[in-house]
Amino acid sequence: MKRTLILQAPAKINIVLWVKEKRPDGYHELSSIMQSLSLVDTITLQETREEGIQIECDNPDVPRDQKNLVYKAAQLFFEHFGISPGIIIRIQKRIPIAAGLAGGSTDAGAVFNGLARLYDKGMTMADRMKLSMAVGSDVPFVIRGGLAVAQGRGELLNFFETPRPPLFVLIAVPKNIEVSTKWCYENYKPGQSKRSEENFRDILSAYRKRDLEFLKHNVFNDLESVTFKRHLAVADIKEALNSEGSGAVLMSGSGPSVFGLYTDRKAAIKAASRLDITKVNLFLEQTSRGSNF
Ligand code: ATP
Repeated sequence: MKRTLILQAPAKINIVLWVKEKRPDGYHELSSIMQSLSLVDTITLQETREEGIQIECDNPDVPRDQKNLVYKAAQLFFEHFGISPGIIIRIQKRIPIAAGLAGGSTDAGAVFNGLARLYDKGMTMADRMKLSMAVGSDVPFVIRGGLAVAQGRGELLNFFETPRPPLFVLIAVPKNIEVSTKWCYENYKPGQSKRSEENFRDILSAYRKRDLEFLKHNVFNDLESVTFKRHLAVADIKEALNSEGSGAVLMSGSGPSVFGLYTDRKAAIKAASRLDITKVNLFLEQTSRGSNF
């Protein structure tokens, strides 16, 4: 019988993204607060007698070859254990692509978790995080998901309980704008931020207490300056959501997604009414605890 596994791959937002100095290896040193969402891709793994790694996806814009991060994750897994692959990976895509929501990384993380379970390799979560790092900086986070502070290039992780009850998250994704993370970091000019470790710790503790009033005035994403300069529409979305007043509003990752955090659904919907829905795709989601595996 062909073994089959179905997994959920949650999107993430950055509650804070502090970009520090560029390191000798070309990556920037980061401090970020990452949070998984209820917005998920569904990944199905199925064993097959046919040799190789086959990818299927319901969204034609997603590559189905070696460029797909799930291919890289699967290849790394099979090579590591010396297994000759025979697997079909199906991705049902709900997470918008190149939107700053870590869609590719989370699919890769789910595939990694799924293969470790399917082939019963007794890998601990720490083993999976360590190995998956080679696929991308965000992958170790999504292996576990939930809430974490990420440092280094994103791989040094400290996990925390996701605040309860969950927060509502309104995500606005401008249509026809895709931002490459690589481009964004390449164009980032350091030195513009007056950030401090103390401020970062205060934001983390406010977030864990769901203190939106504090967050509203303190959350920051250093990459906003780069993306807003090139895509004014993204800055406009942030301004429109901010003018509603009740939530904490920020661009996620390198954008162009902009999200607002709210304690109640009504406030999130009220904020959405300030946006022109011919120009954005909207998602009303919640913060989530990520994978339990
Ligand atoms: P991040 O927030 O980690 O920077 P992102 O959400 O901005 O990532 P992705 O959705 O991961 O960006 O997509 C970036 C590019 O990666 C896409 O343009 C696509 O060609 C490629 N890609 C590779 N694998 C996948 C995948 N499984 N799903 C979506 N895009 C993928």
